[in-house]
Amino acid sequence: MTFEPDSPLACEVLASPNFEPRRDGRRPTILLLHYTGVPTCAKAVDWLARPESGVSCHYVVDEDGRVIQMVRESMRAWHAGLSCWAGETDINSASIGIEIHNPGHDGGYPDFPEAQMQAVEALCRDIVARHGIRSERVLAHSDVAPVRKKDPGEKFDWARLARAGIGHWVEPEPISRSDRGIGMGYGGALVAEVQGMFARYGYDLEPDGDFEEKTAFVVTAFQRHFRPARTDGRLDQSTITTLERLLAALPCSRLT
Ligand SMILES: [Zn+2]
Repeated sequence: MTFEPDSPLACEVLASPNFEPRRDGRRPTILLLHYTGVPTCAKAVDWLARPESGVSCHYVVDEDGRVIQMVRESMRAWHAGLSCWAGETDINSASIGIEIHNPGHDGGYPDFPEAQMQAVEALCRDIVARHGIRSERVLAHSDVAPVRKKDPGEKFDWARLARAGIGHWVEPEPISRSDRGIGMGYGGALVAEVQGMFARYGYDLEPDGDFEEKTAFVVTAFQRHFRPARTDGRLDQSTITTLERLLAALPCSRLT
């Protein structure tokens, strides 16, 4: 079982049996980035190719920049799990998934090497261009599943992708050293307002005014992606200002 790679950047096809047609004729409008979270890339690919794993992705990028395609882009790969973004709950049908090999937070979380980042950048650019994926829909797994997932994590260089024209990004507001922000247990109008801003950006969050665990997970996911200097899940002014800037930078059509 094999196929022709969709991207000229894929040097190898290692077909996974874990896929199905995209549901309701959906086309990919989200590019979702992950880390593998296992010790070696070979282990990751082996697992994603086993029927009993029940998981897969479209591409895997090894530390040396090697790109392996595992599922055709036209098909629904199984990488997102229970997740939600901007009202879409079938993220697998609506996305293309890239697994970037990195052992992850539980495996020492090494830096993403330069050769790997170059390959990720080129692959993202190719996919975004071919499918017309909008910048604000290039996302982390943690953005669409903030309670369950941390990947690809705060070491992933979203600013670099943005410099290459990929993804939605604004310069994060610097952190004021004295500003520890507010955390779990707080409630009120400010919390409701900021929860509403996260929801407008796309995060799955109710503006109920209670700073409970789910809100802390969403704040942490946001920080990992957009304000990686501190990922403590607390609402400080830097986080809020960065979120405001991102909302202001959304294309007008996105808000209607
Ligand atoms: Zn993931």
